[in-house]
Amino acid sequence: MFDTLIRGGTIIDGSGGAPYRADVALMDGRIAAIGHNLGEAAQTIDAGGFCVTPGFIDIHRHGDAEVFRPGFGKAELRQGLTTILNGACGVSLVPFGERHREELLHYLEPITGKLDPAIPTESLGAYLNALRKVKLPLNVGMMLGAGTVRADLFGYGEEEPADMRQLHRQLERGIADGAYGISLGLGYAPECFYTTDGLIRALQPLKDGDIPITVHMRHEGDGVCDSVEEMIAVAKALRCPMHISHLKAMGKRNWHVKIPRALELMERARADGVDISCDVYLYDAGSTQLLHLLPPDFLRGGVDAICARLRDKNQREILREAIAHRHDFDNIAQMVGWDNIMLSALNLPEYQHLIGKTVAEAAELLHLDPVDCLCQLLADERCAVTMIDRMACEDDICTILHDDYSSVISDSTYPTSGMPHPRVYGSYVRVFERFVLEKKTIDLPTAVRKITSLPAEAMRIKNKGLLRVGMDADINIFKPELLRERATYLDPRQESEGMDTVLVGGKPAILHGAWTDAGAGQAI
Ligand SMILES: [Zn+2]
Repeated sequence: MFDTLIRGGTIIDGSGGAPYRADVALMDGRIAAIGHNLGEAAQTIDAGGFCVTPGFIDIHRHGDAEVFRPGFGKAELRQGLTTILNGACGVSLVPFGERHREELLHYLEPITGKLDPAIPTESLGAYLNALRKVKLPLNVGMMLGAGTVRADLFGYGEEEPADMRQLHRQLERGIADGAYGISLGLGYAPECFYTTDGLIRALQPLKDGDIPITVHMRHEGDGVCDSVEEMIAVAKALRCPMHISHLKAMGKRNWHVKIPRALELMERARADGVDISCDVYLYDAGSTQLLHLLPPDFLRGGVDAICARLRDKNQREILREAIAHRHDFDNIAQMVGWDNIMLSALNLPEYQHLIGKTVAEAAELLHLDPVDCLCQLLADERCAVTMIDRMACEDDICTILHDDYSSVISDSTYPTSGMPHPRVYGSYVRVFERFVLEKKTIDLPTAVRKITSLPAEAMRIKNKGLLRVGMDADINIFKPELLRERATYLDPRQESEGMDTVLVGGKPAILHGAWTDAGAGQAI
C-alpha cells in the first residue's frame, strides 16, 4: 500500500520529453512507481485533466533572511516552487563575523531585507543548522557568496587581497558545510575590483572540482559579451562548471545584438569542452540596489566612504560626467534613462512618498537634478535603496528561452520596506501564462524542463527535477491555462493563482487550491 496515488494525470516529467498519461505512486517522500493499475494507497488525488510535473526549482533567490520570517513560502508555493537556492550574486548572508558586520548588513539590506540578529551568520554550517530548526514550507538550499567572503575578510577596498589563503579557507569551509555553488557578484563591490587573474587565484579551491560557479557578471549591457568571454576564460582555467546568472543585454542599443552573440560564445565554449550554462528571468525590468548606478571607483571603501563621496561637490561633478559619458562600466542610468528607474524601497520617513516614483519624478519633487537626487537619496539612506529598472527587451528573453542550456530563475529580492519586484510572486506562473500560452515562445515540456531538471542539473541538486522512480516526491498538479500572475509593478504583493496541488516531499502544501501548512520542506 502506497502513501499517495496521483491518478489519471498527464505526466510532464521534466526531461523535455512528450507528455503521457499515467498514475504516480508515492511512498516515504519518494516516487515509488509510475504506470497504470499501481494498486492501493492511503490517499488518492484525482488528477484527471491536469498536468503532473516535478516541483519547480528556483536556483536564484535572495531569500537568505526571508526563509526565517513568518509567512515565508506562500509566494513561492502558490507558483509551484518546491525548492529554492539562496545566496546568489556573491551576496549571501553568510559567512561573516564582526569585523565588517555593519557595512555588510547595510550592503545586503536592499537585497535580503533586514536581518534578524538571531540568525547566525558566522558560517554556512551554523546558518543551515538554524534553518533546520525552522518549519520550512519548501526545500531551501544555499550558495556561498564569494563577495560576502571577501568583504568579511578584507572590507570593500579596491586592492586585491595579497594573501588569498584566508579566502580559500572560507570557500573550502562553505563547500564542506553544504554550499551548492559559489556565487560571484562581479558587478558589485568588492568583487568588481578583481582582475580576471585575481579572480582565478581567488577561486583556486574550485579547480578541477564539480562545484558550480554562478556569476552575476561584471557587465550586463554594452560589455556583456566581453563578460561572457571572461567567464569562459575563468571556467577554462579552473576546469569547473560555470553558470551565468540572469543573462541579459541592458540598454536599447544592445537589444537584439548582444544576446545572440553571447549565446554563440557559450555554444562554442561547450564544443571546446567547457561546462557552461545560463539562466534568465522573465521580466524586462530588473531590481537591485540603487547603488548599482555608480561606477566601481565610487564604490571603494564601504558605505561611509561612498556617502562622503556622494556629498562632495567635486565628486558629484565627476559622477555627472561619468554617467553622461563613460562606457567602461554598466552605466545603467545612461543606458536606460532616469525615467526607467523606479525607486522601490527607501527607509527614511521623509522619502516614503518617493516609493514607486522614477528617479526623474523624484528629482522633480525634490527640486533637484537627477544626479543630485541620486546622490542625496543614497547618502541620506546610507546606500540602502532598492530600484526597479526597465532595462531589457522581451525579444532577448525569448532568444535566451530558445537556447537548450538556459534555465528560468526569478532573482527574487526581499527588501523589508517598500515594494518588491513582481517576479517574487509571479515568475513561475508567468513562464506558462506569457511564454507558453500567449507568445508560444516555448512548448509546455520545454518550459517545465527549464524550471525543473535543467536548473537541478546545473546546480547538482540530487534527486529532484524529474518525475522518475526514486526521485523526491516534490510534485505539482495544475492546468496551465488556469495559472494567473496577479502581481504587478505597482501592486506586487499578490500571490499567483491556479496551482491546484503542490506536494513537498510527498505531503501536500497546497491541496486543491487550499493551503495546508504542512511544513514538509527541508534545509538541503
Ligand atoms: Zn544578480
